[in-house]
Amino acid sequence: MRGALVGPRVLLRRLREVMSEPANAQARLDRIVVLIANNMVAEVCSVYVARADNTLELYATEGLNREAVHLTTMRLDEGLVGLIAREAQPLALSDAQSHPAFSYKPETGEEIYASFLGVPILRGGNALGVLVVQNRAARVYSEEEIEALQTTAMVLAEMIAGGELESLARPGSGGTVVRRSLALMAQPIAEGVGLGHAVLHEPRVEIKNLVADDPEHELKRLQSALELLRASIDDLMDSGGLSHAGEHRDVLETFRMFAQDRGWIRRLQEAIHTGLTAEAAVERVQSDVRARLLRQTDPYLRERLHDLDDLANRLLHQLTGAAFTLAAENLPENAILVARAMGPAALLEYQRLRLRGLILEEGGATSHVAIVARALGIPTVGKAEGIIGLVEPGDAIIIDGTTGEIQVRPQPDIEAAYAEKARLRARRQEQYRALRDKPAVSKDGQPIDLQMNAGLLVDLANLDDTGAVGVGLFRTEILFMVAPSLPRAQAQEALYRTIIDIAGKRPVTFRTLDIGGDKVLPYLRKVDEENPALGWRAVRIGLDRPALLRTQFRALLGAAPDRDLRIMLPMVATLEEFDMAQAMLARERERLRRLNRSQPKQVQLGVMLEVPSLLFDLDQVFERVDFVSVGTNDLMQFMFAVDRENTLVSNRFDPLHPSFLRPLRRVAEAAQRSGKKASICGEMAGRPLEALALLGLGFRSFSMSPSNVGPIKALVRAVDLAALERFVLERLDSVDRARNLRAELSEFAAAHDLSF
Ligand code: PEP
Ligand code: MG
Repeated sequence: MRGALVGPRVLLRRLREVMSEPANAQARLDRIVVLIANNMVAEVCSVYVARADNTLELYATEGLNREAVHLTTMRLDEGLVGLIAREAQPLALSDAQSHPAFSYKPETGEEIYASFLGVPILRGGNALGVLVVQNRAARVYSEEEIEALQTTAMVLAEMIAGGELESLARPGSGGTVVRRSLALMAQPIAEGVGLGHAVLHEPRVEIKNLVADDPEHELKRLQSALELLRASIDDLMDSGGLSHAGEHRDVLETFRMFAQDRGWIRRLQEAIHTGLTAEAAVERVQSDVRARLLRQTDPYLRERLHDLDDLANRLLHQLTGAAFTLAAENLPENAILVARAMGPAALLEYQRLRLRGLILEEGGATSHVAIVARALGIPTVGKAEGIIGLVEPGDAIIIDGTTGEIQVRPQPDIEAAYAEKARLRARRQEQYRALRDKPAVSKDGQPIDLQMNAGLLVDLANLDDTGAVGVGLFRTEILFMVAPSLPRAQAQEALYRTIIDIAGKRPVTFRTLDIGGDKVLPYLRKVDEENPALGWRAVRIGLDRPALLRTQFRALLGAAPDRDLRIMLPMVATLEEFDMAQAMLARERERLRRLNRSQPKQVQLGVMLEVPSLLFDLDQVFERVDFVSVGTNDLMQFMFAVDRENTLVSNRFDPLHPSFLRPLRRVAEAAQRSGKKASICGEMAGRPLEALALLGLGFRSFSMSPSNVGPIKALVRAVDLAALERFVLERLDSVDRARNLRAELSEFAAAHDLSF
C-alpha cells in the first residue's frame, strides 16, 4: 500500500481551480485525472463517460495508455466499469482481475494493476459515467477513500450535465448520455400531440458552490437548516396547513421521520467532511439514495424515494435561500410542463396558450390535475416513472396524449414524424369544426343527442366550439377540487348561476358531488379506507352528511329561477337512496315556496347508473326517476371487478364484450318502455367503435369529452342506424356468443365507409 490520503478537501479545492482556468474540455479533464491520481496516491485514474448509444467511452486517463482515450468503449453489460454504471454503486477490489465481471482491454495496458476502485458519476440518481482509480499493488481502499472519490465524481457530473464534454465524444456515438434520445411509455391522459421544451414545474435548486473551505461552518449550516425544517414540518402538522398540493398528513409524518433519521443525517455530515458545502452534500446524498431506490421494484420503497426527494428539496431551499418558485411565472413559449405531482389549481396558474403538454410522474388518468388538463385540452400523459431525473430543463420533448408516448431529445426524423401527426390532427379538427353547426342526424334521418361533459367554467367555452347541444354531465366536484376551501351555499349558487347563464338555452345536467374514493377535497379530512372505490363516496356521503347535499340542492335551486334544472345523483345503488335524496330535494323546494322565492320552472332528478345492482331493478328505476345516465367508467369497474385506476387490470376487459353490452341493451329497452331518456356519459360514448355499439343497442343520447363531439358527430352523420342496429343485435342475440364485437364493428365501419 502506498502513502496515505492527502485529503479530499485539498483535492476539491484544486479541482475548483482547474475548473476556473481557461482551457478546453479535454485539457481540463486530463488535468483532473492527474490531480485525482496524485491525491489518491494511485497509479491510474480514468474517466469513462456514458454515451447516448448505451456504451461507456474512456474520456481521459492518467496511467493507462493515452492512445486508448476515445478509443476504448465498453457496453453497459461489460466489465467492472459497466457493472458500476449499471448498478450505480461503488466497487472496491484488491484483486480486480479475479472478479467475474473483469474484462480485459489490451489497448489500455491495465493488466499490471491489481487493485481497483470505481464509483459512478451520478446526477439525480442516474449514472452519467464512471470514475476509476487503480493501483499496481493489491490494496484495500478505505471507506474514506471511497467517499472522497464519490465526492470528486460530483464535479465530473456537473461537467457532463453542463454539456461541456459533448464536443469530445467520438464521432457517431451520439454524444454523452445526457443528450441521449429516449422513448418512454406513460399512461395516456388527455389526447393530443405536444411538441416543445421541458419546463420543470418545481425548478431544481441550482447549487453554485460545491466546495467548502470550512467544514465546521458547513456542519453548523446543515444543523440549523435541519432544525428549521423540522420546525416547519411541525408547524404544518399543527396547523393542518397544505401549502403544497397533494400534501397529506401521512406525507408530513414521513417527512418528520426522515428529518430525524440518524443514518441520513450522518451521511450528510460525512459528505460535508469530504469537502462539500452543506447544499452539495444534500445533493450528493440524495443522488445516491435515488440511484439505490430507482433500482428497487418494491412500490413502498419507491414511494419513500418521493418523500425523500421532497425533503431534500426543502432542505436545499433552506440552505440556499432559494424561494419556492413555480415555473408558472416566466413560462417560455412551447412549454412541456414536467411535474412529479401537481394540484389542479396550480395548473390553472399557467398561461394555457404557452403550454404544449403536461407530463406527470405520479398522477394517473383520474387525478384531479388530469381532469383539469383534459378540460383545458392540454395533451397529457401520467405515471411517467422517473421522468424528472431523465430530463434537463429546455430539453426537446414530444408527448402523445392519445398513446402515452414520450420522446425525450428526439432525433430529427422522430420529431418530423410527430410534427406531421400534430398537423394531421389539427387538419382533422378543422374538419370537425366545420360540422359544428350541422345537426347530429344519422344518414337514415334519426336525430342523436350529443352533449358534452364538463367540470370547470373554462369547459363551457367548448359548447360553442364543438356544437354540443348541452352539458350532459357537469361534474360539480371538480369545482370543489380547485377551490381553496369548501364553497359555501352562496358561492356555490353564484357558480351554478354562471354556468347556467353561459349555457343559455342549452341544458346542463348537474351531478351532485361525487367525492370520496380517489376524489378527495384537500380541505376535508380524508377517511382511510381499505377499498375506497367501494367505500364512503358520492351519494353515500351526501345522505350520511346531509348538510353537504342539502346545501348543494339549495344552491342549485337558487341558481335556476324560472329555468329548467337537471340534477343527477352519482353511485346510487338502491332505490331507497334515490328516494331519500328526492325527499331532501323536495324539502328544499318546499322551503323556497315558504320563503316565497322564485322556483325553477321544472326540476328533473335523475340517477347515474354505475352500480350494477340497479340493473336488476330497471323498470322500477325508470318508474321513479326522471332520467338515467349510464356511467360506463364505473359500471365497467364494478361489473368486471377491475379497478379503473389500476393499469395492470383496467384494460383487461373490453366494453364491447357481450357480457357488458347485453345488460346495456336491457337499459335501452327499459328506457324505451318507460318513455324516459337513458343516456351514456362514460368515456365509452366518445370512442368511435364503442359509440357504434351503443347506437346499435338503441341509445340515442350521449355526453362525452368535448374533443370527441366532432368525431362522433361525423360518425353519426355517416351511419345508417337501422342497418347498424340490425348488425349489432343479430350478433348479440346469438346465444353462443362469447367474443367481443370489436373486429366485427371495425368490419362494419369499413364496409360502410365510416372513417375515424
Ligand atoms: C362514469 O363513472 O362513467 C362517469 C361518467 O363518472 P366519473 O368518470 O366521473 O366517475
Ligand atoms: Mg362514475
